[in-house]
Amino acid sequence: MRLELIRGDITRVDADAIVNAANSALLGGGGVDGAIHRAAGPELLAECRLLRGCPTGQARLTRGYRLPARHVIHTVGPVWRGGSDGEPTLLARCYQSAFALVEQQGFRTVAFPSISTGVYRFPIERAARIALGEIRKTLERMPSLEKVTVVLFSDADLETYQRVLSGEPGSS
Ligand code: ADP
Repeated sequence: MRLELIRGDITRVDADAIVNAANSALLGGGGVDGAIHRAAGPELLAECRLLRGCPTGQARLTRGYRLPARHVIHTVGPVWRGGSDGEPTLLARCYQSAFALVEQQGFRTVAFPSISTGVYRFPIERAARIALGEIRKTLERMPSLEKVTVVLFSDADLETYQRVLSGEPGSS
């Protein structure tokens, strides 16, 4: 299986790159962003400062420093404002932008958190459909990609992603 869903802490994942659900300043924050900065060490913030921010839907690459992962792909998800403000398109673009860097760099393994579904309040089931749709599409066209892991932080989030992946009723 080239697509894996696990419950866990993305800062512990060994991969060519892990993806950070950052904010547009790229200067750290709460949630997964804070956890990644704490685990990577202050060198990560120093490199992020040089990037001078990132617009929503785009992605930027840094090294991984003290993380087991070699690199961090920072992407900025949309804040959920009811769904008619382009949020689904922007969330899809986060995955596309991250995969564009993966392809450019020739990475074979990458791990994602559930982008936008924390503080940014994107409904998890809709986010899961978008995330898994983009991941499946990319796996089909990118044979060099060996493994994509989605790391969910709670059992409930993992169950939602598993349900959406298996296409069970209630997931559309
Ligand atoms: P956003 O601002 O994009 O919503 P958050 O960090 O608030 O980002 O939340 C995104 C998701 O990441 C949430 O589901 C949250 O539970 C999860 N999360 C928080 N810490 C970690 C971690 N260490 N590893 C994986 N996922 C995490």
